[in-house]
Amino acid sequence: MSAAGAKNSNVHVIDHPLAQAILTDLRFKDTGQIAFRKGLVKIGRLTAYEIIRSFPTKETYVETPLKVKARGVKVPDMEHVVIINILRAAMSLVEGLLKSFPQARQGVLAVQRVEEKEGIENIKAIKYFVKIPKFNSEDTVIIADPMLATGSTILEAIAEVYKVGKPKRLIVSSVISCEYGVEKLVQKYPEVQLYTLAVDPELNNHAYIVPGLGDAGDRSFG
Ligand code: URA
Repeated sequence: MSAAGAKNSNVHVIDHPLAQAILTDLRFKDTGQIAFRKGLVKIGRLTAYEIIRSFPTKETYVETPLKVKARGVKVPDMEHVVIINILRAAMSLVEGLLKSFPQARQGVLAVQRVEEKEGIENIKAIKYFVKIPKFNSEDTVIIADPMLATGSTILEAIAEVYKVGKPKRLIVSSVISCEYGVEKLVQKYPEVQLYTLAVDPELNNHAYIVPGLGDAGDRSFG
């Protein structure tokens, strides 16, 4: 990755051993459809935990059954989350994110990847359905897409979010990214924060991430 991508403090690689062990199962070619989807759900939940680490907390006090006060925290921004589901591959990842952000509002973006001719510059993201709820400057918008490959889908999705408004924070949740896609993202939108479990080195001629995990949509839904 170039200096811009590698040094960007908005690129968070989740190195929690449990997340990495689940990722290893997802990469394995013999992991079946149900286990694959379950793995994505778990990764969504773990990614949410990492995102929540960066949310401000507010001190609070509660009375315990012993009739004394205990100091605690609240995470007010958890009530102000919008999750954008990139159909169809992100469905299980979103299911996991929603377990940690049960109050989140949801948007959807249906994008079809079209390979006009061989070569990564020729892969186009054709969007055919966009529905993003209204949000305001208090909200954190999380765009979920398990694979950040050429970046074309994510750049389209970010442009659609910015048509609606400017959120407090814009986050991309991916499972595997690649250097090429991260570079595109940080060059165009350096303010966007990426949470991912791996940044793989290569894209092949059909824009699949290598080593990657294959086609996330096909592995989830057949
Ligand atoms: N989309 C996928 O599902 N897999 C890749 O490797 C790249 C894009």
